[in-house]
Amino acid sequence: MNESRPAMLDVQAIRAEFPVLAQRVHDAGGQGRPLAYLDNAATTQKPLAVVDAVRDFYLRDNANVHRGVHALSERATAAYEGAREKVRAFIGAESAREIIFVRGTTEAINLVAAAWGRANVREGDEILITGLEHHSNIVPWQMLRDAVGAKLVVAPINRRGEVDMEAFERLLSPRTKLVAISHLSNALGTINPVERMISLAHEVGALALVDGAQAAAHLDVDVRRLDADFYAMSAHKMYGPTGIGALYGKREILETMPPWQGGGDMISMVTFDETRYNELPYRFEAGTPHIAGAIGFGHALDWLERVGVANIAAHETRLLDYATERARAFPGLTIIGEAAHKASILSFTLEGVHPHDLGTILDREGVAIRAGHHCAMPVMDFFGVPATARASFAAYNTREEVDALFAALEKARELFA
Ligand code: PLP
Repeated sequence: MNESRPAMLDVQAIRAEFPVLAQRVHDAGGQGRPLAYLDNAATTQKPLAVVDAVRDFYLRDNANVHRGVHALSERATAAYEGAREKVRAFIGAESAREIIFVRGTTEAINLVAAAWGRANVREGDEILITGLEHHSNIVPWQMLRDAVGAKLVVAPINRRGEVDMEAFERLLSPRTKLVAISHLSNALGTINPVERMISLAHEVGALALVDGAQAAAHLDVDVRRLDADFYAMSAHKMYGPTGIGALYGKREILETMPPWQGGGDMISMVTFDETRYNELPYRFEAGTPHIAGAIGFGHALDWLERVGVANIAAHETRLLDYATERARAFPGLTIIGEAAHKASILSFTLEGVHPHDLGTILDREGVAIRAGHHCAMPVMDFFGVPATARASFAAYNTREEVDALFAALEKARELFA
């Protein structure tokens, strides 16, 4: 990763790579509004390079991977394994064997809960999460807890939406087997001090899993510097296709884990009496994978590297700072989540307007945001709100789109006044 000062993005040039952005919505009768897509934490748009890579694969190279002896299968395998190498390089893993392709973050966490958890977590053991987690970093651990009689422990958050680090430290003990934490909260935009949290987990002999669904396209991720035991991510939040993501796991840990799904590709030998499992990473990739998706993911990472995650992060921080400044001055608006370290996400409520109504009104103005609990119901409970409105930024967003957001909010306020 480039350590020098971030460069300014040429946002108009970037936007030209995303044809989906150049549209008007609700355009019946020519009354439409230019789209301001501010729902990037749910999923990002895809650049032409990614769309073309997926299309080219199907038009030219489509074949199944690994077992084929013909030209197309060899090409498909090379492209699929090439994508794995790109993921390795992007997150600084030591070996491509440590990269397992999965459907996304949700599946990555379920894989760890099922394969590592069932083999290593016993009655009375504890799994420590935080009050900021997405449901996909809560429910798999509840399922494991209920299956083995373990305990799920939750480190509380404060009113700014930061994990209470004193409590986090206090809750760690030799009973803690795993710490599972988000790198960047999707509901509030809080950046967790994951490096410190991982090191504290290791001090009590626990492993650490990082949910990187939000972080991977916004923060510099180096799994070796973090010393994460597992790191989960979703391509679709990183300018790549849906239905594909990756789980990083330290090789020495993955090697001790039993498989979690059985079938083709994950075996080296099968008889009716016995099966020998394949080596890493194939042991965890049963069945035909999402080949085109993985290839598209690799191209999304090429795109991110080309534009530069640090440059994107600096751009998004400028947008977030500007949006936060405008939000603070907006009558009746309450920002939910004001952590000292935040990235790319502004969650808020507007007095007298339900977030869902707000979402609908903004949509009529061409502004796409998300309204709801953001799959983080415990966070909503903590702040005593049923839902929030959430604007989330990406490389292609502009200051004018932030202005469009606040102009639309003004309309909503007038409507409900
Ligand atoms: N974790 C966080 C923090 C998220 O924001 C999301 C998606 O919104 C997920 C996990 C789940 O990701 P996916 O639906 O791609 O599996």
